[in-house]
Amino acid sequence: MGAPPRNPESDRLMSDETHRFATRLSHGGRAGTRIHGFVNPPVHRGSTVLHPSVEARRDAANHRFEQYMTYGTQGGPTHYALEDMIAEIEGGTRCTIFGTGLAAVAVPLLAFLKTGDHCLIPDSCYGPARNLAEGLMKGFGITTTFYDPKISGEEVATLFQPNTRVLYAESPGSHTFEIQDIPALAAVAHARGAKVLMDNTWGIHHYQPFRHGVDVSIQALTKYVGGHSDILLGSATVNDEADWKTLRGASSQLGQYASPDDVWLAIRGLRTMHVRLKHQEAAGLEVARWFESRREVLQVLHPGLPSHSQHELFARDFTGSCSLFGVVFDPRYSQAQIDTCINSLKLFGIGASWGGYESLALPTSGNITRTATTGEFGGKIARFHIGLEDTRDLIADLEHGFAHLN
Ligand SMILES: *Cc1c(COP(=O)(O)O)cnc(C)c1O
Repeated sequence: MGAPPRNPESDRLMSDETHRFATRLSHGGRAGTRIHGFVNPPVHRGSTVLHPSVEARRDAANHRFEQYMTYGTQGGPTHYALEDMIAEIEGGTRCTIFGTGLAAVAVPLLAFLKTGDHCLIPDSCYGPARNLAEGLMKGFGITTTFYDPKISGEEVATLFQPNTRVLYAESPGSHTFEIQDIPALAAVAHARGAKVLMDNTWGIHHYQPFRHGVDVSIQALTKYVGGHSDILLGSATVNDEADWKTLRGASSQLGQYASPDDVWLAIRGLRTMHVRLKHQEAAGLEVARWFESRREVLQVLHPGLPSHSQHELFARDFTGSCSLFGVVFDPRYSQAQIDTCINSLKLFGIGASWGGYESLALPTSGNITRTATTGEFGGKIARFHIGLEDTRDLIADLEHGFAHLN
């Protein structure tokens, strides 16, 4: 279970591997009794780091990748506390924090790819990841093939080129919720010397990336970790020392840094994440089943539902689900009718992001790009995030909204 704590303020192991997830979230990253006994670690803001002697300063600089502090951009105790906790949640050894989830997508791609390399990215990736592949990466001479997220190991093997260095994954896919057979894809990638980078934001602790062959696991901590829609943060976690040097080296070359205040809020978010996730998993499934029961709905894109075309794969690799899913409306409804329905909802905010305490609804048809697949699901799609409201109120709100469809 991970490396020993790197948080210099911790006076004991952050947690014990015999402890379960909720216990570890409660006890991880604490300062022990070193900070005057206060249960929470303080926020350390800072640029300058002082050393007792020139020799001590030199010695710290020799340990760049071990997170000895030499300067604020290397992060400080507040960052390390969160990094230790995320590494532990993901089952990796080392984590580095970024100012946004998108930076946590971009830096690993730039770290593991160089001019002349080729990269495989699922068609269902988070939109800004596609923008990076088609923008800066392309400009740097890195080519990308977008692939069907439902691809098998055998099929993906045909897409590999001699210069393929990264297989990128996101499971389930953004907006369309395809589950990827990561172990099969990772086996092919590793046999060809490529790294597997995965956006694991939806899975959080329900998906243990390193057990399935992932080399770099990415999280938008903005979502359920923050949990209150008030911060932006990301993380990338690895399980191998050489990968750590590549990742951390790129992160510091690119000047990546996150606000310690936001990091502190993420640590605070983690303390209650287990309870929120448990509630939101059940609430998400309950509302998804309500959608499924309605004749206005053609299909619900929620991998946790037995009706999902890849539910078996989901059940094999995931231990649970989060509360974000898609709803495909019956094709007789126009975009304008669906927009009117969503506009009429009182408890669902219309907005992007997710993982907070509040429910959200967002029409997605027309706003997602697909080039390797059709992206057609038989009707217009909207994405729903279920927050912490009482599901009876949410369903009543949706019932009123659906009245506008007919
Ligand atoms: C939101 C999100 C991101 C980016 O996170 P930000 O903190 O908003 O930059 C990356 N991947 C996925 C799957 C996301 O949903």
